[in-house]
Amino acid sequence: MNKTNTLAIKALAIALFASSCGNSNSNGNDTVENSNQQTETPTVVETPTPTKEELPIATETSNEVTIESNDQMKYNLSEIKVKVSDPVKLTLKHVGQMKKDVMGHNFVLLKLGTDVAAFTSEAMNAKDKDYIPNQKDVIAHTKVIGGGEQDVIEFTLPSVGVYDFICSFPGHAGIMKGKIIAE
Ligand code: ZN
Repeated sequence: MNKTNTLAIKALAIALFASSCGNSNSNGNDTVENSNQQTETPTVVETPTPTKEELPIATETSNEVTIESNDQMKYNLSEIKVKVSDPVKLTLKHVGQMKKDVMGHNFVLLKLGTDVAAFTSEAMNAKDKDYIPNQKDVIAHTKVIGGGEQDVIEFTLPSVGVYDFICSFPGHAGIMKGKIIAE
């Protein structure tokens, strides 16, 4: 108890000291000191410590990937790095609330050399195939999911390279797209 009290008093003293300092500065009684303050006081640079949620792209190589999609028609990752020739477990989550016939999302991983624009336009007319118009261009894909749902797929990338992924729900691939880098 004594120790806590002492600490509290110390904290109070520091607070008072700090606030009295602040007052004398803001009063502007001493203009010389003020001008010194301006030149000598280092600018407080707030170095942001980005959390994973704030980063738009993935930076670590991992074969266990979770990618989120939302009601704003966005993925939370635009770049995913994985190790080549090892199985990748990918979870697609829809963190929104909209239904899948309105704001459905999937994750379609395309083979190297696929004409993404052509695949995307074919997909628009492939509702009966869950927007996967053909399998020949596709390495792996999730099903189309709605808000609150998720789907897990596993695949292995056979060679080093940069692979395109898209959401093939009509109108989404222009924004919902990214790259998987196998290295
Ligand atoms: Zn989508």
